[in-house]
Amino acid sequence: MFCKNCGKEIDDKAAVCVHCGVATNNSPNEKSWVAALLLCFFLGGFGAHRFYTGHTGTGVLQLVLTITLIGAIISGPWILIDLISILCGSFKTSDGKELAK
Ligand SMILES: [Zn+2]
Repeated sequence: MFCKNCGKEIDDKAAVCVHCGVATNNSPNEKSWVAALLLCFFLGGFGAHRFYTGHTGTGVLQLVLTITLIGAIISGPWILIDLISILCGSFKTSDGKELAK
């Protein structure tokens, strides 16, 4: 691929351009698996793990469901499913990338 900043050719997996030092598209999407797991475990009711991984829409939905008592019946099992899928490694960010372990 080519650097967005200086236009020189760089390695496809490079996080930073070796010519000008500007970060490439590769690095900002790295989301930590551990962080997602902890956020889901402690703040899952507020959709924190979904906000973190870029699923903002469904994060807001979880938050709203949790703060309404009837909705919490739905959000509880949903967050448990999220927690299991993070543990299994099948939970991805909104742009389809796997979480970095
Ligand atoms: Zn560059």
